[in-house]
Amino acid sequence: MLAGLHDTRGRREDFYRDLHAHPELSGQEARTSAVCAERLDEWGFEVQRLGGGVVGVLSNGEGSTVLCRADMDALPVRELTGLPYASTATATDEAGATVAVSHACGHDVHVTCLLGAAELLADRRDQWGGTFVALFQPAEETASGARAMLDAGLEQRIPRPDVAFAQHVLGLEAGTIGTTIGPVMSAGDSIRITVFGRGSHGSMPHLSVDPVVLAASIVIRLQTVVARELERGVFAVVTVGSSVAGAKSNVIPDRAVLLLNVRTYDGEVRRQVLGAIERIVRAECDAARSPQSPTFEYYDQYPLTSNDGEVGARVRSAFEQHFPDRLVELGRVTASEDFGLIPDAFGTPYFYWGVGGFAAGVTAPPNHSPYFAPRIQPTLDTGTSALVVAALAYLGDGLDSAAPSVDPLGSSTGSQQRHQPR
Ligand code: ZN
Ligand code: ZN
Repeated sequence: MLAGLHDTRGRREDFYRDLHAHPELSGQEARTSAVCAERLDEWGFEVQRLGGGVVGVLSNGEGSTVLCRADMDALPVRELTGLPYASTATATDEAGATVAVSHACGHDVHVTCLLGAAELLADRRDQWGGTFVALFQPAEETASGARAMLDAGLEQRIPRPDVAFAQHVLGLEAGTIGTTIGPVMSAGDSIRITVFGRGSHGSMPHLSVDPVVLAASIVIRLQTVVARELERGVFAVVTVGSSVAGAKSNVIPDRAVLLLNVRTYDGEVRRQVLGAIERIVRAECDAARSPQSPTFEYYDQYPLTSNDGEVGARVRSAFEQHFPDRLVELGRVTASEDFGLIPDAFGTPYFYWGVGGFAAGVTAPPNHSPYFAPRIQPTLDTGTSALVVAALAYLGDGLDSAAPSVDPLGSSTGSQQRHQPR
């Protein structure tokens, strides 16, 4: 099956460069989803477009149903990689501002690899049995795309998957695959907290309830949630990313707005941390004689991404067979993902892994950096074969031909690396 990698490699690389040069913001993935739908249709998938995404179902007789998901959106980041195919695109964001756009999170790698896997599986239907579902999701970066596809009726529109997979290109060495069992990406919560004071002249603070002092006190006190309330070794992050109040030195404003970001790996810890934040904010408002209760608005909420043990063991052993010496322990990533909402809606176990994209021995620019520039190869070959190998661990039961007849990475025959990350 993976022998086909070599024949289609050039097309995948061209597709990737084109996609990289044409990034689209979250919720605006019109061109990307049209291209995905067109390709899937061409290869015999039954294609549906819903919630801004695309889902293709390839039924191939008896067997399990496997869903693979790729996210399609780019970020409002001005690309500074200097690559010849770097993005110069701009778009209008939700606030109406014109922003530079680039694939600074590498979702173009995910789309290219999933299309590559879909093509290989469609091409070699004699080598597997079951149903393969390729799902292209919008708006991962705003935590809204998986939800949008579910709200548009995804559960009724495709067969229930027995297992689901997704991957992310990360700062690992290109050609390697990073896996971990259990929690792999954190649950993420953003909270907009508004606290109220009483405005006054800057020279007459005794007539005010000063929300600037109140907010400052809250910011300091919130540092004790992780440091003083959680057991040693339990992971959580509480970050105050924004604190805004007032506009002039001689006016005491009447409110302050704090934006918080919280990351956790455990539902109980998450409840404990969110509870502590609300308790501290309310108590500080009381202490400051705040005239009105604070408000808490939760947004950009990501579920915990936690890999199933049984599925993980099966896929890892398939990876070990096909990628000898290329498997690394990923550990937990503090970033978050909305992928889990899709398998969770079906009650389907899943496995999510990392694909390396960078030269060995260099500190890769992190995802979301303007310098984020994955190597084209062996990254695309690895990501494409990883999806095929994982899918065949369920769709190729007992089929000897599922084994690759060539080095699945094909790194020695792949096109030469053109650009180093910087
Ligand atoms: Zn991202
Ligand atoms: Zn991402």
